[in-house]
Amino acid sequence: MRPVVAANWKMNHGPAAAREFGEALAVRGAPDGVEVVVFPPALSLPEFARHKPTWIAAGVQSVGVEVAGAHTGENSAAMAREAGATWALVGHSERRTALFHGGYSFQRRMEVALDAGLTVVYCCGEREHQRESGETEEVLRKQLEPVRKLSGEEPSSPGSRVLVAYEPVWAIGSGHPATPSDAAMGANICRRVLGDDVRVLYGGSVNADNLRSFLGEGEVDGVLVGGASLTLDGLMALIRAAA
Ligand code: PEP
Repeated sequence: MRPVVAANWKMNHGPAAAREFGEALAVRGAPDGVEVVVFPPALSLPEFARHKPTWIAAGVQSVGVEVAGAHTGENSAAMAREAGATWALVGHSERRTALFHGGYSFQRRMEVALDAGLTVVYCCGEREHQRESGETEEVLRKQLEPVRKLSGEEPSSPGSRVLVAYEPVWAIGSGHPATPSDAAMGANICRRVLGDDVRVLYGGSVNADNLRSFLGEGEVDGVLVGGASLTLDGLMALIRAAA
């Protein structure tokens, strides 16, 4: 399996900037042996998707619980698909914290995303106080319940469209990544819960200099990157490091 480089732009790059980014990527060569997906903000997704090269996939950062209806501010998975997304993030910690999304709704969000034909990256990770009090495994097991309960989707089967991103909350945007062995330990917990062959990404202050160390432990199949993926040179350096 090719390692995955997933770039989460969060609330950065409006439609014009996303278009320019896509166009600039299109004149770069396709890297060998890496699967790349960029998650622009929903408003920028159509422009990015239209102008990006085919070797990069586009994703949406969140999908609504329902297919359509009275859900102000949400975007449905089917709309994201129509706008050019083939991937979706579900359960990012910034959405867990800001919007108090609960476990059931994450299961539902994954189901609607899968029904719309999207590949899902489901994020999980413990907070600092939970790590310090030795609760990491318990927290991850609980957060992974919605994945375990997905009907008709076996994350550990070949070609599954559900990946997990182990993202310790204290490592996200902090400049203090987990050690490669801690990242491997988190990924290993995900495997024990979901099956040996589930694809697990690590996220939390990854950059082009440290990326390789996470892949080197043999438990991590790719990375989910925020800050270091925001510039063209930054993203290309991440891709080269993973190749
Ligand atoms: C993220 O947004 O999921 C993330 C890991 O961010 P950063 O790489 O900036 O820590």
